Amino acid sequence: MRHRGETTMEDNHEVAYLKTGGILMKPVINADECTGCGLCETTDPETFKLNDDGIAIVIKEDGVDAAKLDEAIEQCPVECISKG
Ligand code: SF4
Repeated sequence: MRHRGETTMEDNHEVAYLKTGGILMKPVINADECTGCGLCETTDPETFKLNDDGIAIVIKEDGVDAAKLDEAIEQCPVECISKG
């Protein structure tokens, strides 16, 4: 049951939705496909980072720059970034 004043993940995503001008985006990386080339981190270091294993991870899920996310998706050589 939901109580008054309680925030949920849906609420947080709604805030992100509003901050991004109406487009709800959450970067998702298919770690099994990632080659660790680092292009996504170079494109948007606020959102992507290579972990200690050399695989890209998402470090910022809300309020992601839409243009940079599109660029990262386009540049990924194995097409393993998507919008969740
Ligand atoms: S651009 Fe794609 S393959 Fe390269 S590190 Fe990022 S997610 Fe991995």
